[in-house]
Amino acid sequence: MIAINSALNQPLLDWYESSKRSLPWRETNDPYYIWISEIMLQQTRVEAVIPYYQRFIQTLPIINDLANANEDTLHKLWEGLGYYSRVRNMQAAAKRCVLEHQGHLPQTYDELLALPGIGPYTAGAIASIAFQQSVAAVDGNVLRVFTRLTICEDDILKEATKRKFKALIEAQLPKARVGAYNQAIMELGATICIPNGAPRCNICPIQPYCKGYETGLAQRLPNKTQAKPRRIEKRTILVIVSHSKVLLFKRPDTGLLASLYEFMNIEGQLSIKACKQLPYLQKQDVKIKKLAAAKHIFSHIEWHMVGYRIELAQPIEIPGGIWVDLTQIATDFPIATALQAYRNPLLEEAPHG
Ligand code: SF4
Repeated sequence: MIAINSALNQPLLDWYESSKRSLPWRETNDPYYIWISEIMLQQTRVEAVIPYYQRFIQTLPIINDLANANEDTLHKLWEGLGYYSRVRNMQAAAKRCVLEHQGHLPQTYDELLALPGIGPYTAGAIASIAFQQSVAAVDGNVLRVFTRLTICEDDILKEATKRKFKALIEAQLPKARVGAYNQAIMELGATICIPNGAPRCNICPIQPYCKGYETGLAQRLPNKTQAKPRRIEKRTILVIVSHSKVLLFKRPDTGLLASLYEFMNIEGQLSIKACKQLPYLQKQDVKIKKLAAAKHIFSHIEWHMVGYRIELAQPIEIPGGIWVDLTQIATDFPIATALQAYRNPLLEEAPHG
């Protein structure tokens, strides 16, 4: 029978107070800001999140601003973080907060969980950090720490394992400072009981309570089922330019990279000759240059891309395409991160005002 020793709470909290990294979202109790940081931190490194977080709260300082933001502004603020459905869900949730909660996030775990895009982890994090509710916030970091502490062999990708540890942790949460406790476990998982390489047990504040350390089993835990291999998609990216303008297309409003902008993006890997024979380009005066190949990894798909820069003597009409100034790419048109290998050289080319 697995149990968590509550004697570890105090050394853990003491360690957190003295060693925690200084991060902008730790200097606020504003539930909206905590929510933003928690969503951004999913699948993104802390250092990478900081400038995004600061830009986001400066541009949309209150929930009403998020609820009313236009789609392109929202995507531009998220450009580079990936998983754009997260920010669209945040906006849907913000609209609900304006309509149903007077422009504030609700305070209970269950009400938070009912909002779009807020799952058990995020609801637990906001409820405990912003509202001091006695709930756990269980993510991959937290599960790694606790499966090592208790030498639990369960698969941490299974919902049943997450539920089991949520209940175990909640049974021994400290009476006060629940938010600090949840953050302390996450911090320990990020800096000491780390995912890749050996855990740093020699400097771990809860080592005396750790069965993984005691038995030498820590490093081979946690257990995770192997993910299915990703589907490989071959694509051809055509960066079509003419007189300091580039041709962009808006993706459909559902599915992969919904509502973001992209260059012409064709299934398969075309040769230069095949590009010249595309219906819109056949009769045009074009200069084609091959660009470097690029790869982008989504959660279930990989794009293996070849790219061409196609210079046209004059902008031509292509259904669905819009010609925009190169300078607007940086400011007005959120382009999928998957295409950054083709977008970044254009940013350098854009005339600087
Ligand atoms: Fe992780 Fe080692 Fe600390 Fe145990 S002692 S919690 S394995 S870092």
